[in-house]
Amino acid sequence: MKLRPSSAKIAPAFDQGPQLAEMAMSAELAFNRNEDVDYGVAVEIAPGVRRIVANNPGPYTFLGTNSYIVGKGEVAVIDPGPADERHLTAIAAAIRGERLAYILVTHSHRDHCDGARGLQALCGGKIASFGPTKTERGASTPGLTFDFIDPAFTPDIALRDGEAIKVRGFALDVLHMPGHAPDHLCFALVGKRTVFTGDHVMGWNTTVVAPPEGNMALFMASLERLMQRHDKLFLPAHGGRIQTPQRVVKAYIMHRKWREQTILACLDEGIGTIPAIVARLYGGIDAGLKGAAALSVLAHLEYLMERELVAASGSAAALDASYRRSS
Ligand SMILES: [Zn+2]
Repeated sequence: MKLRPSSAKIAPAFDQGPQLAEMAMSAELAFNRNEDVDYGVAVEIAPGVRRIVANNPGPYTFLGTNSYIVGKGEVAVIDPGPADERHLTAIAAAIRGERLAYILVTHSHRDHCDGARGLQALCGGKIASFGPTKTERGASTPGLTFDFIDPAFTPDIALRDGEAIKVRGFALDVLHMPGHAPDHLCFALVGKRTVFTGDHVMGWNTTVVAPPEGNMALFMASLERLMQRHDKLFLPAHGGRIQTPQRVVKAYIMHRKWREQTILACLDEGIGTIPAIVARLYGGIDAGLKGAAALSVLAHLEYLMERELVAASGSAAALDASYRRSS
């Protein structure tokens, strides 16, 4: 099935605002949302990398989850995607006659990890991801609850930052990049200046950072880490190839800094509760995305509180607290 979305349909009001004009433009320009997708068809997207898109389009997944097949003969699959039999069968068909060494999972959100055991049943291979974290998981908003996360997801092999996955013909460096999720990994294709960025940096929109699942301080630190690298290609889990990685990461960082400034401006005007801030900043937002917008604001307020720039009525940041600048 071919799907070519209209940009109006997939561009959420979420995290966009008139004042962002310049920054949003720079981020906007780098996103190519006019992708043509053939679900279930493996397409060579970079030398030695094939991509199959799962048919799970949605407000958080764009056209669907990208599953990547890395290598030839002996391969690794990055993000098996949802437990969709047709998708898993398509991956199995694409690698028929090849050996699947690893099923790598960027993070335990269901649109990335749910298909792992099913693909293993079809093709073998060891499932590898960060594994359980000791942090609180989940987010209390529709679409971002445990329907969205599999807190019990356990790999065969737990990966840690700095480790390398070696397969015949290529190697992947493991980069722990928490922020969107505490267990989020990116995988760098050694010698190719290419990174599989998962949901940390996406090809179609800014990333959701929703506490407690998401953590803004960690997200910003993980973005800074990508800035220090000199990659020439990002292959995200949603959306197309990112051929200007540094520019997109910079736009992501600027976008968050701008959002933080707009929140501080609200506090200066005496707008100190999250619902009021959301109403001010996200005006005509779709009702379905309001919960996500509230959590995004909460993530920023947590980060401001960590730096003692903002104080809350309670001792901790919460959706129902009121906030003011620290004196
Ligand atoms: Zn995710």
